[in-house]
Amino acid sequence: MNRNDFPILNEKVYGKTLVYLDNAATTQKPQVVIDALSDYYRRINSNIHRGVHCLSQLATNEFEQAREAVRQYIHAASTQEVIFTRGATESINLVAASFGRTYLHAGDEVIVSEMEHHSNIVPWELACEDRGATLKVLPFNDKGELMLRELETLITERTKIVAVAHVSNSLGTVNPIEEVIRIAHSHNVPVLIDGAQAVAHCPVDVQALDCDFYCFSGHKMYAPMGIGVMYGKAQWLNEMQPYQGGGEMIKDVTFEKTTYNELPYKFEAGTPSVGDVIGLRKAIEYIGGIGLANIAAHEQELLAYTTEKLARIDGMRFIGEASHKTGVISFLVGDTHPYDMGVLLDHQGIAVRTGHHCTQPVMTHFGIPGTIRASFALYNTFEEADALVDAVVKAKNMLS
Ligand code: PLP
Repeated sequence: MNRNDFPILNEKVYGKTLVYLDNAATTQKPQVVIDALSDYYRRINSNIHRGVHCLSQLATNEFEQAREAVRQYIHAASTQEVIFTRGATESINLVAASFGRTYLHAGDEVIVSEMEHHSNIVPWELACEDRGATLKVLPFNDKGELMLRELETLITERTKIVAVAHVSNSLGTVNPIEEVIRIAHSHNVPVLIDGAQAVAHCPVDVQALDCDFYCFSGHKMYAPMGIGVMYGKAQWLNEMQPYQGGGEMIKDVTFEKTTYNELPYKFEAGTPSVGDVIGLRKAIEYIGGIGLANIAAHEQELLAYTTEKLARIDGMRFIGEASHKTGVISFLVGDTHPYDMGVLLDHQGIAVRTGHHCTQPVMTHFGIPGTIRASFALYNTFEEADALVDAVVKAKNMLS
């Protein structure tokens, strides 16, 4: 599927054609995105919003058109609800800090799940520490599925927010976020969804989901690094205190009393990464050209095919066997250390990730130091899946 759009896939590592299966960490970029970046810097590089001159207006137009493209992509009600950040991490930190400062008080509670990326744990720990609140944890079972029934008992009248991943980056689990949101809302508790591992793999409709916040990174959806999105319902964003202070986020500044800009600018202090925002729009158009449904179907076929072939290897242990998964396969082989396996795969030209994948509580749950993780994107092929399986067998033989 459209492999030639991605120049890096023709690169060689150790003289072998690159087999890139580290897409949950970051995806490769199609030529149209690379071109959009250099085009921006060649043609219209300029600071936005404040300029009367032509370049500034051109750059501002493109920047705001990208915001509209994001709005359509996630079906937000308004561009006022689309805040540009540096990535999912910054988006979640923004919500934890601003929401925390506005609504969290001593004795309140925040719920996260046991399978969260550190980006959806540590910002809440910081906010709880700051406000004297308590962090509570929604567990998952040994298949890697959330134990949803526990949510009803975890939520109390002191619960202020629930923060859960749409898709787990280390288990591949697609969480039943509709159900999480329904349960939380039935107790009038808002929900933040960490969509970092979902936006490039399944359609997202924030209005249909009715989530209160939805956070993601551009670089995991074929866009440049350094750009992300925090979607928030206007009702929250209007009330929440700003995250950072500086240019652009203000209406009037005096030493006595500063007033803040309207949405979305209230949460966009300083000069944004304009070129990367424009690149994000190109990536959205690129995904749209192929169709998310087609991408999802292809990745599901790769997931089923590769899982079935890996399962035939003696000593194979999958970490994360939820019934609803994206194209993420975490595994261990016999008693080989994931790092050793990762190095031997790398020498065969296969790029996978090894370690805890920034989800140490998941590793603690299974009592393991880490996993080997292969993760798919739209350009991966069945030949690459075969190459992975062959390389794992070879590495296993070398290590045992
Ligand atoms: N959340 C999840 C589920 C992730 O997988 C990641 C990155 O791997 C993040 C958050 C953080 O994303 P970023 O490093 O792009 O901010």
